[in-house]
Amino acid sequence: MTKELAIGVDVGGTNLRAGIVNGDGRILKRESIAVGDDKSAKAVVDIVCGQIAKLMSESPGQVKAVGVGVPGIVDFEKGIVHRSPNFPAWNDANIRDEISRRVGLPLAFDNDANMHALGEARFGAGRGHRNMVLLTLGTGIGGGLILDGAVFHGDNGFAGEVGHIVVEADGIECGCGGRGCLEQYAASRGFAVFAGRLAEAERREFLAAAGVNLHDLKPELVANLADKGNSTAVKLWEIYGSYLGVGIATLINVLGIETFVIGGGITRSWDRFITTARKNALAHTYRHHEGKLKILRAELGDDAGIVGAALEGLALL
Ligand SMILES: [Zn+2]
Repeated sequence: MTKELAIGVDVGGTNLRAGIVNGDGRILKRESIAVGDDKSAKAVVDIVCGQIAKLMSESPGQVKAVGVGVPGIVDFEKGIVHRSPNFPAWNDANIRDEISRRVGLPLAFDNDANMHALGEARFGAGRGHRNMVLLTLGTGIGGGLILDGAVFHGDNGFAGEVGHIVVEADGIECGCGGRGCLEQYAASRGFAVFAGRLAEAERREFLAAAGVNLHDLKPELVANLADKGNSTAVKLWEIYGSYLGVGIATLINVLGIETFVIGGGITRSWDRFITTARKNALAHTYRHHEGKLKILRAELGDDAGIVGAALEGLALL
């Protein structure tokens, strides 16, 4: 493994995390800062460059490259952010060239989920596997595809948008312009959808126990009720798992990949949904995959984005 050091930066909607990473995937030094209210391209680039400069001044060795991961649809080749729900003012801004000009080092720039996927693939739950899909389950669904050990971007950087796999042809409208996307069911908002479909008496009783309106039903709340033995809550987690399983089945059928790494806040309730997800994934794929399918829990947490970004930077050398 290379002894060279790189800085990985993971830009989130509220926080920016950065670290100095060595070729073994270890974070030697880290920084974290709030992004603040000014989310313009200029303000965020200033913060990114400030954190990079700070880390470089504290580095135990020479930093050779930088990687920056941002949320949204990123044109990996041109360094342009086409669309970012967290940074709506960035429309088509060339963030990469601006950072690169100021930092003066080789700079990898990519979607944050791709960086997370690379980190998990190389040094997390996916290590040792040539092909892997990362799914991040939270308020939305992030995804990254690792094919032959590298991030797969597709024609225009749109690959890995796993949240928009269609699981109900005439289903709920989605922000992408489509309908019935996995993100409407297997992200946080899914629980309100599932509870809304319960028979009226059961729904009313369940919401009374939860103490919230249907639209405020969050995974943590359903998990708490399931822990207390509420049978409707347990059932909702199984419905959740079944939708996730259908999404995974589609990925298996298209890509033939048998290693899935799953991260994000919803994995705190892992045991409540994973058995159903696995069963349903296998029910919708060739029998060949039985015994080979691995659905693993992500290991690196928030560090995955920093490590993956640094690795993409080192790959430029
Ligand atoms: Zn969609």
